[in-house]
Amino acid sequence: MLEGAAFVYDDSVLKYDFGSDHPFKVWRVRLAKDLLSKSFQDLHVVPASPASRTDTELFHTPEYLDLVRKFSITGTGLLDGGDTPAFPGCYEASLNVVGATLDAVDLVLEGKYAHSANFAGGLHHAGKGNASGFCILNDCAVAIARLRKAFRKVAYIDLDAHHGDGVMYGFYSDPGVIDIDVHQDGKTLFPGTGSHLEAGSGEACGTKLNLPIPPGSADDVLLDLFNEFALPFLEEAMPEFMIMQCGADGLRGDPLAGLSFTQYGYVKVIEAVHEISHRICMGRLVIVGGGGYDPEATAECWASEYIAISGSAQRCRLIPSTSPPSVLKRVGSLKAEIRESHPSFSG
Ligand SMILES: [Zn+2]
Ligand SMILES: [Zn+2]
Repeated sequence: MLEGAAFVYDDSVLKYDFGSDHPFKVWRVRLAKDLLSKSFQDLHVVPASPASRTDTELFHTPEYLDLVRKFSITGTGLLDGGDTPAFPGCYEASLNVVGATLDAVDLVLEGKYAHSANFAGGLHHAGKGNASGFCILNDCAVAIARLRKAFRKVAYIDLDAHHGDGVMYGFYSDPGVIDIDVHQDGKTLFPGTGSHLEAGSGEACGTKLNLPIPPGSADDVLLDLFNEFALPFLEEAMPEFMIMQCGADGLRGDPLAGLSFTQYGYVKVIEAVHEISHRICMGRLVIVGGGGYDPEATAECWASEYIAISGSAQRCRLIPSTSPPSVLKRVGSLKAEIRESHPSFSG
């Protein structure tokens, strides 16, 4: 069995930089790589190349790509309602990020590695024709669109504290995209979407699974919902390729979100998905980054996740975090509602 994981990285992704006053710190990707190079024997760094315009048009509209290119030349103004400022070269920098995710996918498709990681990717809010929430181009969605040409069914699993709206709505009516998204309840956090009632439309009804959890939810809730809903749903769907968005802003203490996960929760979920990937889709699993606004904690979490998909046992002696009783009570009601309303769990 092919093992080992590629850490796709190129200094060019560091150009995806909104400036020092902005909370999105792209350099945490390099920090994750530096941590691994000091502590992990089995690090395989593979350089990345930019995506082409044709690649990005698999998901984004030509009009929107032209608009981003225009903003990229002037380097000023806002690409969305306020969170995503343009900067000089933002078009090319976005192509670098998308290209790194596509390269990560190709390394797995070509059988060079069992798995791969691009922590500069995971820009899950961008829509076909719009920027949103620090995301200019949606590398996850471009990769899924490309994979859908080769595969009947692709799974997208999103661990970011924020709902992955750009990906979910981008494929909302595509029955070939299985979408599993655990996130802080949209009533309490940007972008406000991702209710458990959003399960896909038309033929795709039942192919999307949203798990919106209350602020304060900890590892116990994450693992409980994964074991009860997400993992059986994933296994049942039998995807042929998996992309996992590993936004680390669900970590306790993140300045932009209110969840209480630790590295323990993230690693346990990734280990479970990794194991399933070998069982049902020949290990075809690519992980990407996303949010994470405590740069050091995010880099440490991503380093542990890379070790997890590299097939090495973790030396971590972490203790899982636990949720307060009020959160557990609300999660109990959410579980009952999902069992009642979701096409895959009701009846
Ligand atoms: Zn996020
Ligand atoms: Zn593996």
